[in-house]
Amino acid sequence: MTDLTDLTLAEARDALARKDFSAVDLAKAHVGAVAAARALNCFITETPEQALAQAAASDARLAKGEGGPLEGIPLGIKDLYCTKDVQTTAASHILEGFTPPYESTVSANLWRDGAVMLGKLNLDEFAMGSSNETSYFGPVISPWRRAGDPTPLVPGGSSGGSAAAVAAKLCFGATATDTGGSIRQPAAFTGTVGIKPTYGRCSRWGIVAFASSLDQAGPIARNVRDAAILLRSMAGHDPKDTTSVDVPVPDYEAAVGGSLKGKKIGIPREYRIDGISAEIDGLWQQGIAWLKDAGAEIVEITLPHTKYALAAYYIVAPAEASSNLARYDGVRYGLRVPGKDIADMYEQTRAAGFGKEVRRRIMIGTYVLSAGYYDAYYVRAQKIRTLIKRDFETVFHDGIDAILTPATPSAAFGIGEKGSADPIEMYLNDIFTVTVNMAGLPGIAVPAGLSSQGLPLGLQLIGRPFDEETLFTVGAAIEAAAPKVELPKRWW
Ligand code: GLN
Repeated sequence: MTDLTDLTLAEARDALARKDFSAVDLAKAHVGAVAAARALNCFITETPEQALAQAAASDARLAKGEGGPLEGIPLGIKDLYCTKDVQTTAASHILEGFTPPYESTVSANLWRDGAVMLGKLNLDEFAMGSSNETSYFGPVISPWRRAGDPTPLVPGGSSGGSAAAVAAKLCFGATATDTGGSIRQPAAFTGTVGIKPTYGRCSRWGIVAFASSLDQAGPIARNVRDAAILLRSMAGHDPKDTTSVDVPVPDYEAAVGGSLKGKKIGIPREYRIDGISAEIDGLWQQGIAWLKDAGAEIVEITLPHTKYALAAYYIVAPAEASSNLARYDGVRYGLRVPGKDIADMYEQTRAAGFGKEVRRRIMIGTYVLSAGYYDAYYVRAQKIRTLIKRDFETVFHDGIDAILTPATPSAAFGIGEKGSADPIEMYLNDIFTVTVNMAGLPGIAVPAGLSSQGLPLGLQLIGRPFDEETLFTVGAAIEAAAPKVELPKRWW
């Protein structure tokens, strides 16, 4: 029998339905792969007993012909999703030991459909970062390496554990979240597929909040079809999240393999940023050629406010974070450091509990919201946000079905190589992804080739609100045309 971890999610689902092997066999293979890959530091908490118990229950349902759409499929859960009775840390010391008495809606949807939990995946602390180096539990190491060079590389962030675990075949798919690029950027760095759905498509209930008007849940998977299968289970209206939208969830898998005839793909002029590498530009041109060959019409478009997006994002996101993170005061969750009085206890707890990047965001956020600076920074950033949204509305109104851009300005970099002297260097990673969150749109990253050093590179597609189906159709066309992005042999 081939290694069960080498299957895709869709193949495993079909094989389980045929009873080629059991869900317990599948869970055991993955529990073993997780244990053998601890050098990558993908998981903060492993839950092998839960995985085997859920798999046994899946086998019982499959035997009765009552299997759900994800019956017996082992998944990883980003440790930003609350999981009942399983520690949930957001990769922060301040939440260490916090065990929620409830389950996030999205993970509950996955268990409802039969999925099996392997554990909780590492991430940047409170999902703030682009490299998974801000985790209190240490960085995630990418399973990828530059050709002939053992330098440990970042998997991207903040969903670095999710992307690395999927790429290393520790799980068939993983939940992730995206506030400014945290699904798409790590997917691009690891040769996996990641989709950030439209704001409101997935419930945020039970997901630790970073910047509530930007956060969205979505999957990272090994290919477009698997991402489509996962999103269908994750998505749906939830009365517990007032920003969750009550629209039907289509059968996304049916959109995979659809024709591109008559589809108009926009190429935004402003994404040709100064200093873009020839390699990234070449990949983008290649993507344009693939879509043209597949029958799409290519149209040059303009999104004139793009140049302000990163600056505006790094005002809006910290502002919301500073407010959301006010709840970690040593009284209700996780860590408490005693002080001489209650104010001192708050200060001691927050100083000890939050890492450097989180403290920086809280300070920036508090500053831009403070009297005297509110109008100059926060209000102006919100105005820019509206203009960015309007740019997209205009091109979609003019008949564009999806927009093609690079996913990241470079391939993955080495651990410690970026951002230690100047945080802005790290923030620049989000240059192609943040506009999508500012406008609440869906975006997908699909692997499209390898860099000259043998590392994955991804392309991004941006869609109309609630039209994830077009992203799956066009993404699958890129996947079909692109050379296969396959991880070289395991070294860990
Ligand atoms: N890298 C961005 C940030 O640090 C985005 C993070 C995210 O999407 N969660 O804010």
